[in-house]
Amino acid sequence: KTFNSLRPLVSLPPPNSPISASQYAFFLFHQNSSSSSSSKTTALIDSNTGYCLSYSQFIHQTQNLASSLQNKIGLSKGDIAFVLSSNCLQIPILFCSLLSLGVVISPANPISTKSEISRQIGLCKATIAFATSSTAYKLPSLHHKTILLDSSEFHSLTTSLISRSELKTREEVIQSDLAAILYSSGTTGKVKGVMLTHWNLTAIVAAIHAVQQKRETPAVVLYTMPYFHVYGFFYSLKSIAMGESVVLMDKFDLRRMLKVVEQFKVTFVAVAPPVIVGMVKNDDLIKSYDLSSLEGVGCGGAPLGKEVIEKFKERFPNVSLGQGYGLTESTGGLFRSLGPEEGCRYGSAGRILSNCQAKIIDPDTGIALPPCKLGELWIRGPLIMKGYVGDDEATSAMLDSEGWLKTGDLCYIDSDGYLFVVDRLKELIKYKGYQVSPAELEQLLQSHPAISDAAVVPYPDEEAGEIPMGFVVRQQDNNINETQIIDFIAKQVAPYKKIRRVVFLESIPRNAAGKILRKDLIKLVTNKNISK
Ligand code: AMP
Repeated sequence: KTFNSLRPLVSLPPPNSPISASQYAFFLFHQNSSSSSSSKTTALIDSNTGYCLSYSQFIHQTQNLASSLQNKIGLSKGDIAFVLSSNCLQIPILFCSLLSLGVVISPANPISTKSEISRQIGLCKATIAFATSSTAYKLPSLHHKTILLDSSEFHSLTTSLISRSELKTREEVIQSDLAAILYSSGTTGKVKGVMLTHWNLTAIVAAIHAVQQKRETPAVVLYTMPYFHVYGFFYSLKSIAMGESVVLMDKFDLRRMLKVVEQFKVTFVAVAPPVIVGMVKNDDLIKSYDLSSLEGVGCGGAPLGKEVIEKFKERFPNVSLGQGYGLTESTGGLFRSLGPEEGCRYGSAGRILSNCQAKIIDPDTGIALPPCKLGELWIRGPLIMKGYVGDDEATSAMLDSEGWLKTGDLCYIDSDGYLFVVDRLKELIKYKGYQVSPAELEQLLQSHPAISDAAVVPYPDEEAGEIPMGFVVRQQDNNINETQIIDFIAKQVAPYKKIRRVVFLESIPRNAAGKILRKDLIKLVTNKNISK
């Protein structure tokens, strides 16, 4: 059985049609771009300084930057721009100008280690890097150019006008061209580069635009997720496409988020589950801010517990809580609960967006299952990635010949089309919504001379959702301890990937093929009986 979207079909441009050079500068869909009021609407607000940029200024700067990058720096369609920065005002301007030139954006987590960054740059084959004065030192010393977003050079690229005589012709960018390479470990193994096209971005914005409730005044939105993660990447573009006002916050902190909501009268915040947990647990803190502007909170990236949802409803009866489900490989959330009726199905991640399909596959038999039966979720449609960059093997393991993407998530869909995510079949840990690949940590553990075998699994944690937990078999006569192991890993990975607990075993349980029996390990420490 295939579940087709119950939402109205949205018409999309054919994948081979050109995107106009102005598509990204003048909102992705030219929303209200003809009305003069919309150009006065605030596009971006820097929450640190209060500095605002109107849509007309935003469009102007985006076009200047695109022109300068093309004519002064020499960027052209097909170049790959590696971006290493926390959220800042320059990011949406940079992203929109790169997209309009057909330059592929590859944003990475600035807290990654130098070796993680080298690997990502090697994967995407970057031709230019954009960093900041505090992140640039992590870039490998390659011969490609680096531009600092907080430098006078960047400022002059966004403000200087190019004379007509300097203008070179711009290559046509079509919908099926590559727009971005984001990073994900998929269902197994090390990090891979997820290729998303302009068509993927167009399709998700169009699908959300079709169902999002229309407003009298522009929404004021705050995204607490970083722009290098698909969740923040997609939301920033979607908001610009829809003419919303985006408040930027560089580093997340609950108190600061509440202050920003009060100060800028934010109407919508998008968060990962730990923020919701923080909001229901800190009554005194919540009470000290005026949050009356807040109409909705969107939560995605990891599961949200039923209890937390109920407490949130109690504390914030006037705020609608929407959930979403998606992957980097599906351009972000393709299941969403939208509007009060859908939002009432607590525990559900919502219904599938327009133009998309889903099915639930029995992992043992490969047969599609009827509503309410538990199996692996497969998804198909215009939001699905083109593939993993330079990795045909990983691509064909994830995407079948009919275009179905195997999510590795154990789910069911009820007879009204609502998705319930129950568990994960794939080897993935989500620490505060960030991906941690067990295989990557296992390889590091196994490289230690005092360790003979190791496995890493997700361990439930109230605040972070899950933490990476290591199971270690020591070499004979060796007594390496937990702290030494934790420190050994911490030195080599970004902080969110740290192993936070270690258990010592005599042997790691494996099946006949040598595959680690992760569920057995999880049960060992949690007594959680995970049924299929
Ligand atoms: P990412 O590519 O980092 O967005 O990670 C995608 C994975 O996050 C999915 O395959 C799920 O395992 C998990 N995930 C995302 N949204 C949800 C949700 N609403 N509930 C449960 N798990 C989720």
